[in-house]
Amino acid sequence: MWVKRTPEEIVIAKRKHLSTRIRTAVFMGVLAAVLCAFVSGGGRFHAPRSISFNEIVSRIPLSIVLGIIVGIISYRFALRSDRQLVCPKCGTIKFRDNILQCSCGGHFENIEEMKWHEQKKINFIRFPKSISDARCRV
Ligand SMILES: [Zn+2]
Repeated sequence: MWVKRTPEEIVIAKRKHLSTRIRTAVFMGVLAAVLCAFVSGGGRFHAPRSISFNEIVSRIPLSIVLGIIVGIISYRFALRSDRQLVCPKCGTIKFRDNILQCSCGGHFENIEEMKWHEQKKINFIRFPKSISDARCRV
């Protein structure tokens, strides 16, 4: 079931999520820059062709600009969780809109401020008070 995080847990979760977004943006930017600098199509049957060292050097400024742009776009739009809401009552998850009331009667909350908590099943087992009591039951 979904439960509200404590303020300390919210700060930790937001820091962790921000770190993941930054690492993803850096990875995507570097990947775009490397692909732009080292890969070139137009070979036989549209296969990548080998490119010369001078061509790689001439592509570096463009690949840096492209890497920065892809990194910014990735950071801005990928892995954003502040747009997601969850209803703690029924568990419905949706993107943020103007409707905060769930059809189940619950109220949608920001998913960053919630966490999933497994409910522990407690099985009550009645032990017999004595052996003679256990024999009576069998
Ligand atoms: Zn609901």
